Amino acid sequence: MAAPIAFVANIDREEVESWLQLFSQIMPSERVVEFAKIGDKAAVEVAIVANPNPSELLALPNLKWIQSLWAGVEGILKEKSLDTIPLVRMTDPNLAATMAEAVLAWTLYLHRDMPKYAEQQKARLWKQQVFVRAEERSVGILGLGKLGLRASEILTKANFKVAGWSRTLKKIKGVQTYAGDTGLKTILQQADILVNLLPHTPATWNLLNEETFALMKPGAGLINFGRGATVEPVSLMAALDRGHLKHAVLDVFKKEPLPEDNPLWAHPKVTVLPHISAPTDPKTASSLVATNIEFYRKKGLIPDVVDRTVGY
Ligand code: NAP
Repeated sequence: MAAPIAFVANIDREEVESWLQLFSQIMPSERVVEFAKIGDKAAVEVAIVANPNPSELLALPNLKWIQSLWAGVEGILKEKSLDTIPLVRMTDPNLAATMAEAVLAWTLYLHRDMPKYAEQQKARLWKQQVFVRAEERSVGILGLGKLGLRASEILTKANFKVAGWSRTLKKIKGVQTYAGDTGLKTILQQADILVNLLPHTPATWNLLNEETFALMKPGAGLINFGRGATVEPVSLMAALDRGHLKHAVLDVFKKEPLPEDNPLWAHPKVTVLPHISAPTDPKTASSLVATNIEFYRKKGLIPDVVDRTVGY
């Protein structure tokens, strides 16, 4: 039997049990063992992780690579002591489809003025807002990776005018693409609805701040489904308060869970979601992990890894 695979997780007990059960069903020839129960730590070459404690990973002296169960891996990347260990993140096509559905749902929410109508109902106000067709609405997507690409496709199909921004320039049918600082400026100035799907890296930290919000179109909306780190919340609330931005849908925050006393909870122009836009699907994710591990066992090759020089 192959060497055990370590499961290094800092999640609820119930979740640990459920993942272990899935792994044993989907990889019957492998032994996925919780970190605490591993006898011979030197035998471990692969670790599957979910919010891992870095010291546990460092206690596996012959670890060859790490498989994350999550798509965002900034928590692991910030641990410099793990820099030499290849890291594979979750890139599940089902996750991209789930995210695209969420992007469409909340884009429609802003596009069809739902926050305004909810507010009007509270005031028993019967008032029709100006109707805008999807073709006339520009949606800008920050990040055209696995998630951004899929989101751009679903929005294009729904007839929105779609533009996207990435680090390296992309070519996507029906999507106006941009890169670089000038590209960012252009997309901010054009978007009626801005969707953030960037990863958390040093370059994306507080990218949406006082200066960049000021570049946005008056009355624009924001959807942040990437990472909380990209949005500077005080500047966002200021832009909403002075009416420069209309509404923000936030699913990710600098600190999660969002603390009870955080003013975003009660802000009338903010919709707070508890990080639900694209949850990992344990079934498809465990199957992807199994494929990656089988690939490694058969070919000795590690699947596509995170590029630590750019941080994603
Ligand atoms: P990905 O495939 O790595 O794509 C990242 C995209 O961001 C790429 O297009 C990349 O540009 C662009 N990018 C990165 N740094 C940039 C910079 N400094 N300037 C401009 N563009 C930059 O990642 P993904 O799978 O699409 O996921 C994106 C993020 O979504 C994850 O990192 C995670 O934080 C978040 N996420 C959130 C949820 C949720 O439930 N809210 C769920 C899953 C994931 P290039 O194309 O040029 O490389």
